[in-house]
Amino acid sequence: MNNNVLVINCGSSSIKFGLIEAASGKRLISGLAERLGDSGARVVWKTQSDGGTLSIPDADHAHAIQAIVEIPAAKTLLATPPMAIGHRVVHGGEQFSASTQIDAAVLTAIEDCSNLAPLHNPANIVGINAAMAQFPAVPQVAVFDTAFHQTIPNHAYMYAVPYEWYDRLGVRRYGFHGTSHRFVTQRAAEILGLEYENSSFISAHLGNGCSAAAVRAGRSVDTTMGMTPLEGLMMGTRSGNVDPALHQFIAQALGMTLEQVTTQLNKHSGLLGVSGVSNDMRTLFAAAADGNERAALAIEMFCFRLARGVAALTASLNQIDALIFTGGIGENSAPIREKCIGYLQLLNFELDPAQNAIHGRGRAGNISTSTSTPVLVIPTDEEWMISQDCAALIGR
Ligand code: ADP
Repeated sequence: MNNNVLVINCGSSSIKFGLIEAASGKRLISGLAERLGDSGARVVWKTQSDGGTLSIPDADHAHAIQAIVEIPAAKTLLATPPMAIGHRVVHGGEQFSASTQIDAAVLTAIEDCSNLAPLHNPANIVGINAAMAQFPAVPQVAVFDTAFHQTIPNHAYMYAVPYEWYDRLGVRRYGFHGTSHRFVTQRAAEILGLEYENSSFISAHLGNGCSAAAVRAGRSVDTTMGMTPLEGLMMGTRSGNVDPALHQFIAQALGMTLEQVTTQLNKHSGLLGVSGVSNDMRTLFAAAADGNERAALAIEMFCFRLARGVAALTASLNQIDALIFTGGIGENSAPIREKCIGYLQLLNFELDPAQNAIHGRGRAGNISTSTSTPVLVIPTDEEWMISQDCAALIGR
């Protein structure tokens, strides 16, 4: 056994993977198997010195994991089995408030949560089973997106709906992106020289999915996502908050089933739905610069709704040590940060344009003026966090 952790993040048609030396955090290999189930399925990977692409036509998740471990560089590195395999699992319901070593009972509990995350948990389970078949003697660990948010108090996680829905069906807010919110708030405390247990942050994870969280004394106390990742902020293709009466209205007006309306809200809304151009923020900026008004509107809405989400989270805090931006958009888009902060002047946020321009893209730092409530950009690293959880659970 060595100190390496294989991190696996199974999506519905892709697997992100990485082999990380837990003690140093060094990434020995990282890659992506994508378009699984399709004739164009392939694995793309890189090590510190080289990389490559392997075509795996029609491969499913199990075949893809087999192909990943057969990559020459991986084969050499995995000749000594890793210390642990860490799996990102999207939904842990109320059963899991921390990362957990997987056994038969844990696997059943993850399966039980599938009704809350029908698009995500089944793919995670396939990944766990495939990794177990490949490495039967290596401990496997589940790291849940929801776990960090299990400290949210009931007045914040309950919906104002009949209580039996919660009791019988688990209808409540769970929150997601927990591993990322945990990572960036820990880093923020380090950067600002604060004790994590004595700090207070709002973090905004802005990728294809977007959520913000209030984190007090190292514990999540509120977040914008809900029972599913559809609630909260405007995202790439997800609407975020809408009037709950919208489902029935659109179903009747357009003759859709409820499932079809939900699909519209998950896959055809957000930046894509409003702009009609793209869910990719870079493409939207290019279109807006060319005079596309709906692209400009989508960008403005994204920032306004983000600012409104951040402001709502302040109800759970009595001070703000920093607002943190992370994720593909949060780390890379200085104009999004600037527009969002523009809506938050009442909370004493003010950006330093020069600092805003140079931070991000892998470089963490403070982008606010000296009199502002601090605003930090911190590149997230969920894979590293997963490797650390595995080391803490298995390594000793
Ligand atoms: P995921 O949530 O799938 O992990 P990412 O965190 O990589 O996604 O974020 C993807 C988003 O980041 C996309 O909307 C993309 O346009 C945006 N993004 C990446 N680079 C930039 C950039 N330089 N400027 C603006 N947006 C960017």
